[in-house]
Amino acid sequence: MDNRYFYSYLHKQIPVMVMLSLFPGLGYIFLSWMHGIPLRAVVWYAGIVLVSIWGYRIYKQYIDNNLTNTQLKAWYKSLSLFYYAFFLLWLSIFLLFITEDQYQLHYIAIFTEIGASLVASVLLIPDKKLFKPNVIILMVPLIIYFFLIGEWFGYVLAIFAGVLAWVLIYAAESSHKLLMQTNYLANHDSLTGLKNRYFFINYLQDMMASLQGEKTWSYLLLIDLDHFKTINDSLGHDIGDRLLQDVASRITDQKHVDSLLARLGGDEFVVVGLEYDNKNECMAEAQALADRILLILKESYSVELHQLFISASIGVSLVSGKNNDASRLIKEADIAMYEAKEKGRDGVIVFDEEMEQRVEYNLEIEQLLHFSIDKNEVSLVYQPQLNEHGKVVGAEALVRWNNEKHGLIMPDLFIPIAEQTGSIIVLGRFIMETAFRTLSVWEQQGIHIQQFSINVSMRQFFYYDFVDDVRLLCKEYLTDSARKKIVFEVTESIVAEDIDKVIHIMEEVRDLGIRFSMDDFGTGYSSLSYLKRLPIDEIKIDRSFVSELNKEQNDQVMVSSILDMAKQFNLMVVAEGVETEAQFDFLRSKQCGIYQGFYFSRPLTDAEFQDFYKSN
Ligand code: C2E
Ligand code: MG
Ligand code: MG
Repeated sequence: MDNRYFYSYLHKQIPVMVMLSLFPGLGYIFLSWMHGIPLRAVVWYAGIVLVSIWGYRIYKQYIDNNLTNTQLKAWYKSLSLFYYAFFLLWLSIFLLFITEDQYQLHYIAIFTEIGASLVASVLLIPDKKLFKPNVIILMVPLIIYFFLIGEWFGYVLAIFAGVLAWVLIYAAESSHKLLMQTNYLANHDSLTGLKNRYFFINYLQDMMASLQGEKTWSYLLLIDLDHFKTINDSLGHDIGDRLLQDVASRITDQKHVDSLLARLGGDEFVVVGLEYDNKNECMAEAQALADRILLILKESYSVELHQLFISASIGVSLVSGKNNDASRLIKEADIAMYEAKEKGRDGVIVFDEEMEQRVEYNLEIEQLLHFSIDKNEVSLVYQPQLNEHGKVVGAEALVRWNNEKHGLIMPDLFIPIAEQTGSIIVLGRFIMETAFRTLSVWEQQGIHIQQFSINVSMRQFFYYDFVDDVRLLCKEYLTDSARKKIVFEVTESIVAEDIDKVIHIMEEVRDLGIRFSMDDFGTGYSSLSYLKRLPIDEIKIDRSFVSELNKEQNDQVMVSSILDMAKQFNLMVVAEGVETEAQFDFLRSKQCGIYQGFYFSRPLTDAEFQDFYKSN
């Protein structure tokens, strides 16, 4: 009985039991009055009434209060006593009637006893400790009665009654087993045997309701394995599954036996802590448990012949009587967990107020972003790209969002949100269309540059309609020669995805004449092997290297080697964020190729860019 489902089932049977006793009970008073034993029956009925009132109170107690787990256990004890009391009362009416001389009362007594046993075996199915003893308590006196008749038919009836008792218990046990099985399946994760998401949500909601109004605290740990997908993809799902089972048992060992551990799906686990009277104590417990889990999960796993290592990122949120929205709480833990991932994984982050504000702000941005294009708030600016002689040879289109409430919002802030929420698909298409249109106008107005760069975000790149969209927009706006000027900038994070798929998409886009550039090169997953495989034409040295050029010996070496390598692979190089003459001089001495940065120009509006080009 670890489950509120059973409690509520037995709770629902209370009124049934009361009705089955109160109304037929009147009939027994009438019968005993007819046979001259009214007083004892009235006393018996008074017992029925008293126990019914008691049952009503138990019934109400369950509905009115959100019982905590310990309260629930106590409640269940009185519920069991209530059922025992009722069936004992039915036994007593049997004994009363069967000891009378009138044979009519005997028939009624026998039927009463069989009926009561049936009721016990049907209503009390969820709990073996209830239905078994009650059926025995009711049936054994009947068997004895038949036996005491002392004649052959009495012995036969005694045997029949014994068989009936066995059948009742057997049937109840089978149904009980089935009930347990269905309930187990509905609430457990089949791979790890832990509780599943469904159970967890119900549990959390119950727990929050029981905390409500009180000054008690609990916590939620959301545990997500780092790079689990890699193991699954490279070693197969069987190995992945075995690893998950190991992880589940390691976490089980660390947590308190009475706290809840559930698997939410994939490589995500959750722990719901116990209740604490003190916030700091609760927090300390959560932190300590999270630390222990991080440590234990990092120890090596041997699965079949593999030695595996994995770490986890954990998000923590605190539950108090104040907040009673389960989905919000889970979201908080989720946000904290993602923060842990972003901070380099293998860590714990506790959800706090600052995060809450940021989430609310992001939520608002997300909503505003939704209408930004229709409200004409999104525009593009163009930053010139120059060659070593200072001649404008290209431009990078950069998006700007001028919101009526928040003013100018920079892409570093809203592009990641747009990526997360998916609005980048619409936004990205709008940017591409605007950029293509601008280029075609420039072409007509005699502004001839070699390349025109557009940033493409990862989610946009992988959108199923991406290539078709590009093809359509090319057709609508660009001549063949103009298409050859378009460069799509992607970031290094793209290589964390399915590389064959990336190459396939790139090849399709290249068939239209469009080239690819690796933006922010050197900040991400740079590796020569993928550079060789990807069909890219250009890399952009990230401005973090360029800005440190005049100070850092290391960055000079870094930039030089990027340039050497690019030469080997026959790639164009654009230096981003050139701000000073010294930086420009250094880069030029290394024959970087193309230069972009505030030293030459900030991103300009369309008209400003045209002026810049003409006066250049
Ligand atoms: P990015 O693609 O690396 O763009 C270069 C960023 O560096 C731009 O910031 C630009 O204004 C800034 N920058 C250029 N020269 C200098 C310099 O000399 N010094 C300094 N300190 N900064 C310089 P911006 O426009 O704020 O864009 C930031 C990032 O947002 C971009 O980085 C890009 O990742 C993203 N982004 C911008 N526009 C778009 C877009 O249309 N689509 C997508 N998907 N992402 C965009
Ligand atoms: Mg860029
Ligand atoms: Mg960049």
